[in-house]
Amino acid sequence: MSKTKKFLLDDRQMPTQWYNVVADMPTKPLPPLNPQTKQPVTKAEMSMLFPDALIDQEMSAERLIDIPDQVQDLYKIWRCTPLVRAYGLEKALDTPARIYFKNESVSPAGSHKPNSAIPQAYYNYKQGIKHLTTETGGGQWGSAIAMASQLFGIDLKVYMVKVSYNQKPYRKLAMNTWGAEVIPSPSDTTEAGRAALLADPDCSGSLGLAISEAIEVAVRNPDTTKYCLGSVLNHVLLHQTVIGQEAVAQMEMAGNEPDVVIGCFGGGSNFGGIGMPFLRKNLTEGKKIRIVAVEPASCPKLTRGVFQYDLGDTVGFTPLIAMYTLGHNFQPADIHAGGLRYHGAGSIVSQLLKDGLIEAVAMPQLETFAAGVMFARAEGIIPAPESTHAIAVAVREALQAKEEGRSKTILFNLSGHGLIDLYAYDQYFAGKLTNYDLPDSEIRRSVEQLDGII
Ligand SMILES: *Cc1c(COP(=O)(O)O)cnc(C)c1O
Repeated sequence: MSKTKKFLLDDRQMPTQWYNVVADMPTKPLPPLNPQTKQPVTKAEMSMLFPDALIDQEMSAERLIDIPDQVQDLYKIWRCTPLVRAYGLEKALDTPARIYFKNESVSPAGSHKPNSAIPQAYYNYKQGIKHLTTETGGGQWGSAIAMASQLFGIDLKVYMVKVSYNQKPYRKLAMNTWGAEVIPSPSDTTEAGRAALLADPDCSGSLGLAISEAIEVAVRNPDTTKYCLGSVLNHVLLHQTVIGQEAVAQMEMAGNEPDVVIGCFGGGSNFGGIGMPFLRKNLTEGKKIRIVAVEPASCPKLTRGVFQYDLGDTVGFTPLIAMYTLGHNFQPADIHAGGLRYHGAGSIVSQLLKDGLIEAVAMPQLETFAAGVMFARAEGIIPAPESTHAIAVAVREALQAKEEGRSKTILFNLSGHGLIDLYAYDQYFAGKLTNYDLPDSEIRRSVEQLDGII
């Protein structure tokens, strides 16, 4: 008999609530602080940037939060997403391990990002907001929020990190097609951008700087314009838990429970999205599922950063967030996993890592691309450069199982496809990509600048 490849849920089985892991955390995440007063940020301060419903979610410790009907209806454009058994990859690795992946690449924007873009646009629309600003690194968040904003009739300005803007013209065109304006960052449209260009006219940009630009524009007109962010914040991670909730149900359909759940890590949203519903089993049912975050060796905040309060952006517009960080002035190498080039991590995942409830590993760039190419040839899907980080660790785990001669069940999140990132593969095939050895001294120099921040 032919084997089951995909485990599918129908529309009626889609989650109707998001799971908030804060409710089950033994140590709660530390609150965000106002950088001037060093006091917890108030709702009134946050309302300069975000609509009320998202602020409530950001601060919530309630276990389950209802997904509005209109958001559920739009999720159904592509959800539920398939859980897939990677028979081809298992064969290529000749491993006794069972490998599954959750395929988030099937969304219209090609990644998990619309899971948060849709509710963010919805709550802004409900509050009568007409304009949104945001930043994008790899371009995936910009694409997702461009689509979502358009669905709710909101106009959108996207500050796109310049290195990605130049590498990914098709992302920009996707955003334009969905009706957004795209500006390479640093730009001369904001004070933050002009200051960066004055210091270094060739500055290739960073997510932190693009955030500063987008926030600067939003706070000029807080009544009609708000800012939005595709990762790091608690409410973003919350929205992404539809991934893991579906995966829990689908692994049950497959008759397997994962020993290890793997997600690549930029700010923590797709990792948290797949990981938290499984962590819930550890926290409430005594399970011992390993939950592994994978970051690039060139931007190793989880494995080599410090846990402390830091700014989310370069200039200092965001609250201070308790996080694992390399320092907000850290400039990562121009690696091709643009979505993983962020200096810090979300406060929930940071606290979980500090408490030893999740694991983190840093992967060198060449190993991730090798795994990505292997996956494409074995499973047919060309993965996003970010997602190849999760694949590379799944491969390591599968090879370890083979070495130890025992079976093991591995689940990873395929956070996106790479069809708009083929330039990165071109560079890889041309032998132009390298591993970046990040010296301790460089991390120290960046982290030392945080002295006295709190
Ligand atoms: C944005 C992005 C990431 C990294 O962001 P997280 O918030 O850490 O998930 C990873 N993979 C893809 C495909 C992305 O678009």
